[in-house]
Amino acid sequence: MSEQPATVTGIPAGLTVRGLDREQTPVADWLCSCHRHERATGRPAVQQLLTRARTGHCPHREAA
Ligand SMILES: [Zn+2]
Repeated sequence: MSEQPATVTGIPAGLTVRGLDREQTPVADWLCSCHRHERATGRPAVQQLLTRARTGHCPHREAA
């Protein structure tokens, strides 16, 4: 009954983070507005994904 994903204030819908409060590898799943899906595993990768998702615009259309 405690397996609900964490919700983070200020982050667009489509982003889910699991495992942040436990001593296990956190995993973030992000469904972008362009419908691309990204998954980050590990705290540093999750934090980077949170930062990118929080900007609110799609990063996938920009040239890398
Ligand atoms: Zn995108």
